[in-house]
Amino acid sequence: MSSDFGKTAKDSISNVESADAHARSFDAPPVTDVREQRSAATDIPAESATQEALKEKLDRVLDEKEYVHWENPEAKARNREMICDYDAKKRAVDKATLMTQRDTLVKYSDYFDQAAIERIRAEIGSGKVEIYNEPYFVEKWAPAEKEYRITGLREMQDGKICIRDCENADTMIHTSSHESMHDLSFQAKKTESEHTYGADKTPLAVSREKLQSGIHQIETVRCTAADGAEAVSSKEWNRYLNEGATEMYTIEAMLDRGEPPRFDSYTQEVCWALQLREKVGADTMAGAYFGGDVSRLEYAVNSMSGAESAWSDLNDRINAWHKSVTPLCPEGDRTIKAEVDAILDNMSGNNARSRKRVLKK
Ligand SMILES: [Zn+2]
Repeated sequence: MSSDFGKTAKDSISNVESADAHARSFDAPPVTDVREQRSAATDIPAESATQEALKEKLDRVLDEKEYVHWENPEAKARNREMICDYDAKKRAVDKATLMTQRDTLVKYSDYFDQAAIERIRAEIGSGKVEIYNEPYFVEKWAPAEKEYRITGLREMQDGKICIRDCENADTMIHTSSHESMHDLSFQAKKTESEHTYGADKTPLAVSREKLQSGIHQIETVRCTAADGAEAVSSKEWNRYLNEGATEMYTIEAMLDRGEPPRFDSYTQEVCWALQLREKVGADTMAGAYFGGDVSRLEYAVNSMSGAESAWSDLNDRINAWHKSVTPLCPEGDRTIKAEVDAILDNMSGNNARSRKRVLKK
């Protein structure tokens, strides 16, 4: 499950969080830390900060909960006509989404704040998930050859979940469960604006949009000059470790409800996410993924590694490995894989050593 960041700004980082496939596609540039803004909010009294945050989230939901999957009713009807047994498949993906939401909210209730729960509740039943016929899906979201195995995606901007039609409804159930996990772990969209001056001392309006889903963080910066010229740049962080964590929680959610996962995706990233959780503990991992507290996870990785750059190195190497996977090289670059393994192995740190000592006793 992955996506393409090499297209237009609309179709790439700022728009599509994850276009998920059985296979991997290709990598993106490196993001910033959304949590810094949260700590700024704690400077004001806790009560009003909480209320303000809740209001912001609710406003966002109200703005965005009507998912416009189709421009007009005719297009919607045409899509359905092209899908064999649409109604049964739609029921299956809706059910998978609702079960993933319900079970995850119960299992990880300690990590969701009230605003997140309100957002998810407000969006239930609002046409969030849609199945798209094969030609339409490929044309719209997977036009490049390398994207041929993409099975679904969640659009970062509006939370729409788009599933590619296929013969086997079980594949769509797995995909919609995975995309729902991305949706559950979506944290916030925040835009900051400032007015400054460019290098030539002319006025410059700068807007920063920060998105976080699970541990995946994206920042898009728009600079608008006085003459209207605009420059847009995007960065992202922790993308493929986030995919590993997403699929790890998805597989567990499916097994918990008695459904075997239907295909392998992000297999290597899932292994790394599992190893990481083993090292840092389930609480730190869930706090980062569902609660957005990536800084605690980062601190754990760095301190257990004895290296300040361990977290960024880990993510940099995982992203590089993902990029090295191609149809001609499905195993990816072994040297890079060994570097990721080494970072995780070396994380035994004090905690694991002291745990071993305790066990020996
Ligand atoms: Zn994904």
